[in-house]
Amino acid sequence: MNKGGKSKTGKMKSISKRPPRCEPYIRGFKAPSEKERIQAIGFDVKNIPPAYNHTDTDFFTHLSQPTSVDDCLAQYKEDGQSFRGFLWQVPWLRSSMDTLMRTTSTRAGKTLTEKYPKGKIYIVPVGNFDEVSCIALEDLIDYAGRFLCVPVTTLPGLNLKVIEDKVVLEEHDGECELESRYSEESQHQQLSISSVLPLLRDKVPEDALCVIGLTMYDLYGEDSDLFMSGLASASQKVAVFSIFRYDPRLTFSTEFWYDIKETEDVSDKDRKRLVLQRSCKLVVHEIGHLLRIDHCIYFDCCMNGSGHLAEDFRQPMHLCPVDLHKLQVLTGLDVTDRYEKLLEFCKKHGMECEAAWVEKRILFIQAEEQKQGKKSALKKRD
Ligand SMILES: [Zn+2]
Ligand SMILES: [Zn+2]
Repeated sequence: MNKGGKSKTGKMKSISKRPPRCEPYIRGFKAPSEKERIQAIGFDVKNIPPAYNHTDTDFFTHLSQPTSVDDCLAQYKEDGQSFRGFLWQVPWLRSSMDTLMRTTSTRAGKTLTEKYPKGKIYIVPVGNFDEVSCIALEDLIDYAGRFLCVPVTTLPGLNLKVIEDKVVLEEHDGECELESRYSEESQHQQLSISSVLPLLRDKVPEDALCVIGLTMYDLYGEDSDLFMSGLASASQKVAVFSIFRYDPRLTFSTEFWYDIKETEDVSDKDRKRLVLQRSCKLVVHEIGHLLRIDHCIYFDCCMNGSGHLAEDFRQPMHLCPVDLHKLQVLTGLDVTDRYEKLLEFCKKHGMECEAAWVEKRILFIQAEEQKQGKKSALKKRD
């Protein structure tokens, strides 16, 4: 479920001018056909609304063949989740699954927000997020709210500090040590995921749709891991993720977890934008999982799985029509209104390519809607 995966690489690869070599999909995986893609979007082929029109390749490209043996689809057999498959799997809209929420639902509601009017997504800072991080948590919360169209807010963070080579949680009634590992050689420290998840589980408020912990600490799961970007447990509604490796000034060894190099090659402005952009993608991808949206195999999409950081970084910020339809039915969002809000965010934070994509998409939808309006007016006259 985690976006970066238990990466064995983790290093940005240099961009070659030659077309990338293709690697085979993992045995048993078959790329979806055009017919399967249309079915996955979930509308009748003759009545796909403009907001979900997938035909213009300026907006949506088919998920391409792996170019590295570490790519997600070269390693994992993803089944794909169509819109209808999502409706079968998603517990939020079924009254029989009310046990998921400790807060009472309004049974008359059709969407997540109508059924759970008090429901919120909570983000918890795990350790410090100032100075070193070059990221403002409020920007991430702002983005997640605009993207998901569900209220997103923070919970008081876990107060962590480093004492000698140990990571310690400070609470009002004392301190306790968390499992971590430390390299004398590089003075790099990693925090164990299994020591953080139970702390988050204890924090889940009654009105929480889910709780996601974010940290600047580098994380690991097992001793053999180079690192682990994070872990989500949808059944427990909690996840924790690290944005440590999203810093473009860092390069990572593919052999040793503690071997990390820092360069000054990236300007402060680009660093800030890239860390925010990568973190925004991570947060909505992981919350998407907690809302039961699986990995996407239909288009290049923010819900694609990734086997390593370079694959993660090249994935787009937008949702494909399949996953946008899932989110729409879940939340009742207005597609153009959502795009307008995302456009404002992208412009504010200097994400020019994304802003251009969103702006063009809004114009496309409006033009298509106008054409359809004219057609139905003509039909009425006939
Ligand atoms: Zn994922
Ligand atoms: Zn998708």
